[in-house]
Amino acid sequence: MEIEVPGSVPCSNAAFAASFAQEHGIEVPGSVPCSNAAFAASFAQEHGIEVPGSVPCSNAAFAASFAQEHGIEVERQQQAREYARIHRRLSLLEIAIVVAGLAIVFSAGLDKWLRDLLQGFAQSFAPLNWQPLAGWFPLQLLLYFLIITFVLTIVFIPLAYYAGFVLPRRYGISVMTFKAWVVNRLKGATIGFIFQAVLISLIYALLAIQPRWWWLWTGIILLFFSVIMANLAPILFFPLFYKFTPLPEGELKQRLVELAARARTSVRGVYVMRMSDKTTSANAALMGLGNTRRIVIGDTMIDRYTPDEIEVVLAHELGHHLHSDIWKLIISQSVLTFGGLYIAHLALQWVVDTQHVYQSLTDPATLPFLFVLVAFYGLIITPLGNMYSRRLEYQADEYALQATRKVEAFQAAMARLANQNLTVVEPSPIIEFLFHSHPSVSKRIKHADAFASSAQALSASLNADNRSATTSTDPSGMFSSGSSTPDSAH
Ligand SMILES: [Zn+2]
Repeated sequence: MEIEVPGSVPCSNAAFAASFAQEHGIEVPGSVPCSNAAFAASFAQEHGIEVPGSVPCSNAAFAASFAQEHGIEVERQQQAREYARIHRRLSLLEIAIVVAGLAIVFSAGLDKWLRDLLQGFAQSFAPLNWQPLAGWFPLQLLLYFLIITFVLTIVFIPLAYYAGFVLPRRYGISVMTFKAWVVNRLKGATIGFIFQAVLISLIYALLAIQPRWWWLWTGIILLFFSVIMANLAPILFFPLFYKFTPLPEGELKQRLVELAARARTSVRGVYVMRMSDKTTSANAALMGLGNTRRIVIGDTMIDRYTPDEIEVVLAHELGHHLHSDIWKLIISQSVLTFGGLYIAHLALQWVVDTQHVYQSLTDPATLPFLFVLVAFYGLIITPLGNMYSRRLEYQADEYALQATRKVEAFQAAMARLANQNLTVVEPSPIIEFLFHSHPSVSKRIKHADAFASSAQALSASLNADNRSATTSTDPSGMFSSGSSTPDSAH
């Protein structure tokens, strides 16, 4: 029995492979499999498994011409799928290592062994015994966390090196030197460790002081923190990784400032972010809040995109801003966070008070247990978050199309981004559903087509209505205001 997978049927996986093979004179035996159980089919194909009774893909030719028509490079798509496949396998390998590692830790009791080791060490090193409340040893906890982080970092160095340095360089996405990569990684790891250490110290302080309500307080602190970070991170942390220079005066700057003004968004300036010494992928964003809000464009985009394309990409970002998407994401994320923390509260109470697995709620040995809860919960809620994010992205695209009316530039930018960033244009629906925070490039291009035809139909009907009243035959006149509200189409 076949299971219907929501979303469009991705014949394109097969189609791109087919047209690639054809272009390079490779004979393709038999028909290309294409079924509604798209994931199964493409998985099977990827692994060379013959699928009995696979349906000949009549849509393949259509999908191939779709790609060609929109300037999506077939060879880049081949590479993009290969790259995505390797990354998926590496992620699975990572999960397998984590699961195996945790199995060893819990079955051998390494979580308690490390705590006992630190407690023994504290006998001869008094400061470690600092105990503001009975059973709460903040410094032992910090040391425990430091040791775990150190061990995890060592274990995952080969994987991080391969996935973060070797692969992106091999596929031409990263141009970072080894030294630059190490420096970047150290900066990121240091900032990450400091934040996590502060957060964990706070959580255990709350577990000691407010054992019944710690989860609520933690949720409130996290909410507060994410609001601050969302607004300040671009200003505080991005400059640690990238150099910013003002975009010189000229037509492009003028157009971008006008676009922001039409979206009633005040910006402090337009800046170029130097990404080209690190990556070949392109991006543009609206960063900061209030007085510090600015338009930021990657130099990788300035170099290769037409002003129209840059305008459309920025319009998408302005759409996010107009729709207050950052707040929607923070609030939805917070609801999930509060839920997760409450589950963690119940689980922790159960293992400590009922099962007596650990000495107390503030026992440092509970850290690995909490990690498991967080990781498992994260795995479950990620698809939910992605589903919501894809909806917001769709609406931002809708705004970009309405505000600029530049359908072709929108589609060209999408194709260019896919080629440049090595994005799989049409992933299988299950992969898109689970892992993608944005709609697939093919869906976004089709969205623009649908927008164009509905705008055309609207203008045709209006023209028919007004034929007797006006002599104007310019349908674009009605679109020139650009002040239409983003959601009016839906
Ligand atoms: Zn977006």
